[in-house]
Amino acid sequence: MTKCILATGGAGYIGSHTTVELLRAGHSVVILDNFENSARDALASIPKIAGGGKIWLAEGDVRNARLVADVIQRHSVDAVIHFAGKKAVGESVADPLLYYHDNITGALSVLSAMRGTGCKRLVFSSSATVYGDVKMLPIPETAPTCSSNPYGRTKLMIEEIIDDFVASTDDFGALSLRYFNPVGAHPSGFIGESPIGTPNNLFPFIAQTAAGMRDMVQIFGNDYETRDGTGSRDYIHVVDLARGHVAAVEHLLSQTTNILPHRKVNLGTGKGHTVLEVLNTFSKVCGFQIPHRIVPRRPGDVGLSLADPSLAFGLFNWRAELGLDEMCRDHWRFQAATNEPRGRRRTRLGAEARWANRVWEDFESLGIAEGRNALA
Ligand code: NAD
Ligand code: UDP
Repeated sequence: MTKCILATGGAGYIGSHTTVELLRAGHSVVILDNFENSARDALASIPKIAGGGKIWLAEGDVRNARLVADVIQRHSVDAVIHFAGKKAVGESVADPLLYYHDNITGALSVLSAMRGTGCKRLVFSSSATVYGDVKMLPIPETAPTCSSNPYGRTKLMIEEIIDDFVASTDDFGALSLRYFNPVGAHPSGFIGESPIGTPNNLFPFIAQTAAGMRDMVQIFGNDYETRDGTGSRDYIHVVDLARGHVAAVEHLLSQTTNILPHRKVNLGTGKGHTVLEVLNTFSKVCGFQIPHRIVPRRPGDVGLSLADPSLAFGLFNWRAELGLDEMCRDHWRFQAATNEPRGRRRTRLGAEARWANRVWEDFESLGIAEGRNALA
């Protein structure tokens, strides 16, 4: 079953890993991205890691419904995975209107373009943040939802918009995937996440400390009701997460019934790890102790978050396979590659740039520049 999948935000952290797994599964991928939080260069690694496959780039803004519809039509897109959007909780508190505007407009644009073109399968990037401070652990999809920040509320609102849209149609199928804590990088070391500025999340902060870019990791509280008192999360390797998208989209595409519900599905491992466990594993992988100290709790943090991932297994036979060792190993490999000494890095960037040129030539020969210029 070879299909054409549109990945909005496909150049980003989760989108790039998902593109690799979609290509590996034999699908072709069109990436629509405006590169506001990603780099073109990262795309150059994708065909290399995936070992080939058909990939196109449409550079532009997902909020432009005409552009999205044009891309869907031009490439006969079978399904859309909508990753594009803003994702920083702190920024959403500081500028809520930006978040409501960008994330909601992007989702409305995707849905109206899909309606206009008859493309009827959608996977949406939601988040476990929709569960807020729920006390039910592990968290099933039926747990009450309530988000404590504008970013999380955009995810809830978009899920509701999709609910209403799906209810108004006969045969539109949608899955909202509620990710727990995506971490790690591709084992090749070529793609991963490079946060801009000081990272808020634990993994990138530890990685940057290990790389000597930060003095030490601050552990936010050691008085939670967890194994060692430090906060516990359900971390999921980004490659597992990417494979979850492939399973989800293939499931949607295999559905032939007329009435398709909009399902919300957790993507997590069902296993929790504390801050100290992550630090110790990361130190083991790096081969040296990463400096850290305990500081007071971070306001707004919950002590424990853990997915019940059984619905994903029941619905589309997916479960996470990679453990904390692989998450730390791959995250560190990507960080270490990013921080290589100048000489080595230059050599590698040289190789990357050659790849990049080839890929852009391919893109150009496929006429993508046209779409970008005409409608972006
Ligand atoms: P990311 O920022 O790395 O990727 C998002 C991509 O979308 C970027 O390439 C960016 O340039 C692009 N983009 C943003 N606005 C756009 C626009 N208006 N038009 C076109 N492209 C646009 O983020 P990510 O970590 O890969 O997250 C992908 C999705 O998953 C997001 O919707 C995010 O909210 C959601 N999510 C992420 C996490 C996480 O921890 N990373 C957790 C839960 C949910
Ligand atoms: N954390 C920490 N120090 C940091 C960043 C995070 O101790 O510099 C803790 C945080 O309190 C939580 C866990 O690590 O218990 C995961 O935090 P992250 O921000 O990565 O994910 P989220 O809290 O959004 O689930």
